[in-house]
Amino acid sequence: MFDIQEIRSQFSILDREVNGKPLVYLDNAATSQKPNSVLEVCHAYYTELNANVHRGIHTLSQLATEEMELSRRKIQKFINAEHDFEVIFTKGTTEGLNLIAYILTQKLQKDDEIIISYLEHHSNIVPWQMLCERTGAKLRVIPIDENGILQLDYLDQFLSEKTKIVSVNQVSNALGIVNPIEEIIAKTRKNSDAYIVIDGAQSAPHFNIDVQKLDCDFFVFSGHKMYAPMGTGILYGKREILEALPPFHGGGEMIATCSFEGTTYAGLPFKYEAGTPNVGGNIALGAAVDFMEKVGRENIQNHENALLEYAQRHLLELEGIKIYGEKAKRTGVVSFNLEGVGISSDVGMILDKMGIAVRTGHHCTQPIMNFFNIAGTVRASFAVYNTFEEIDILVEGVKKAQRMLS
Ligand SMILES: *Cc1c(COP(=O)(O)O)cnc(C)c1O
Repeated sequence: MFDIQEIRSQFSILDREVNGKPLVYLDNAATSQKPNSVLEVCHAYYTELNANVHRGIHTLSQLATEEMELSRRKIQKFINAEHDFEVIFTKGTTEGLNLIAYILTQKLQKDDEIIISYLEHHSNIVPWQMLCERTGAKLRVIPIDENGILQLDYLDQFLSEKTKIVSVNQVSNALGIVNPIEEIIAKTRKNSDAYIVIDGAQSAPHFNIDVQKLDCDFFVFSGHKMYAPMGTGILYGKREILEALPPFHGGGEMIATCSFEGTTYAGLPFKYEAGTPNVGGNIALGAAVDFMEKVGRENIQNHENALLEYAQRHLLELEGIKIYGEKAKRTGVVSFNLEGVGISSDVGMILDKMGIAVRTGHHCTQPIMNFFNIAGTVRASFAVYNTFEEIDILVEGVKKAQRMLS
């Protein structure tokens, strides 16, 4: 059934050494490695198919278009969208969130409110701050407690007829905390007419996603964190909403007719896909979905949760370690600091010498670091190909760092 060595054999990069040691890649929340099936699709695209899409009547252009549209339908199924044209190709979560913030500009007025949470990535903070600057709207932030858990009483207080947007992540990249988005969506629907945006950058790689069941208005994620190439991503939006909102970028592909007197826009999804897309990457994103479906998302999640539980248990056996969000429901991430070691990158450098790749620093979440009054953390994050032996190596590495730094 779930054969970890068979899975690992699909990732050539895992065979390489770093600093003379076998690579232990635990920086998956920053980007995952790509299986050979995905790399082969990229290669085959450029060696056999390369052409611009939706434009040519020549054979290659038609084939490339068909492949990209097939990929769109795979992703539609992957997130259970009602229509394939609700799936917009982007270059990642950041672009998706900026797109949404831009197209909602006309919907906001001075003193309207946008609700986000303390646990957001900078890319789910800054686009809303920019939207506030454009419109005079105000940002309200759901606080967390000392375990990193969102304080939803505040959401109840914040929600009103002034609330125009609620945007939260499903899983925090810095701490791996799984947020109760079902509850957040239900409360928001009950108490406002706000647009609901879910940042799924850290959940799409791990969970079953069902945008219809969630009943969110937008759901965004990045391909590169779920086994697909860099520069790929998805914006899902509900049909009625996307149809009613204005376009984002103007240019080729997104028009129906264009003249100097005026331009009419194409229908979905092309209205939001101006310019030449990352055709090879978008096709490869479909191959990444195939990879995940083949392994099985339940299997992926169960394995990663077992790794997390194992890592947390063994790290806590060491004295003098603090895991952030230790008591919260989490997935795929353990974020920690060593007592008496102020600089997380010192730990990261020692681990790197042992071939272990982790992330250190603020993880694009400075507000969380400020909340805990720290500059950063050491973050180990897991993917389907990680092993318990790799966690053992991590724990040994952390012990060594403790010895060297204290
Ligand atoms: C990585 C990440 C982003 C930004 O994604 P990009 O791929 O860098 O655009 C946004 N939100 C969360 C939760 C993330 O983990």
